[in-house]
Amino acid sequence: MFFLIFSMLLYFLPTLIGRHKADAMGIFIVNLLFGWTIIGWVIALIWACAAERYVPLRVVPVSSGRFCCQCGALSAYGAHFCAACGRVV
Ligand SMILES: [Zn+2]
Repeated sequence: MFFLIFSMLLYFLPTLIGRHKADAMGIFIVNLLFGWTIIGWVIALIWACAAERYVPLRVVPVSSGRFCCQCGALSAYGAHFCAACGRVV
């Protein structure tokens, strides 16, 4: 019984490692369908251990101006009018 549980955990190790990733379902499918081939298991393991895709973040200077409530553009600190649309900020 212990051997069966241990084997299942070892077989689904890539799925367990990558369960919090965005591609968790893909890792699970590759692990489930191709895990019995050693190559498929290794591919799923590498996929699970690989870094997440880089998501670029927009850095917005919070304290250096105001956002226009009409167009959303960031105006310079102390500006009274939006540089993009001319509305009072
Ligand atoms: Zn504006």
